[in-house]
Amino acid sequence: MTRLLIVGPPGSGKGTQAARITDSLGVVAISTGDIFRANVKEMTPLGVEAKQYMDAGDYVPDSVTNAMVRDRLAQSDVAEGFLLDGYPRTVAQVAELDDILASNGQNLDAVVLLTADEDELVARLLKRAQIEGRADDTEDVIRHRLSVYREQTQDVVAAYRERGLVREVDGLGELEDVTSRILTALRQDA
Ligand code: AMP
Repeated sequence: MTRLLIVGPPGSGKGTQAARITDSLGVVAISTGDIFRANVKEMTPLGVEAKQYMDAGDYVPDSVTNAMVRDRLAQSDVAEGFLLDGYPRTVAQVAELDDILASNGQNLDAVVLLTADEDELVARLLKRAQIEGRADDTEDVIRHRLSVYREQTQDVVAAYRERGLVREVDGLGELEDVTSRILTALRQDA
């Protein structure tokens, strides 16, 4: 299991789990959001282009995002495997990733889908907002963000479910427990 995607709702600890899994499996973590943010910070041409969309809360256009992912997946450190986080986000990006992998003679091994009870996520995110002083993160705003996530991911998840690639893992509980659940799920045959 070396070519993986991770999908999970806000508040599910997806980023933390991604780091722990990649450490454990010895593969590279690739987060498109992180790459964009790093480019914005460095004010690279890619960052300047992406920023306007990110600031507006929109997706960066596929032409930009796909080219960036294609470049990243062509780098030598990815040879042992990768865990993609934040891509693909649309059905068109699913097709693009298929094409990128096919041209590298590769396949996707599995998609980790972190699940969590929505009320539990709301409670978590409200607590986090309180600790971090994010007064704008009201329950309504948080519930809206979760419904946007659900809408945006459902087609991508459905596409991979059809291929039998999705491994659903309960994302609630202790950090260590969730990590070992994910690793166990990846060890099992699909
Ligand atoms: P994230 O941290 O994954 O939420 O990504 C932050 C921002 O980067 C998003 O709001 C988008 O503007 C952009 N972004 C990240 N991944 C993608 C993607 N796969 N397609 C388009 N835009 C993306």
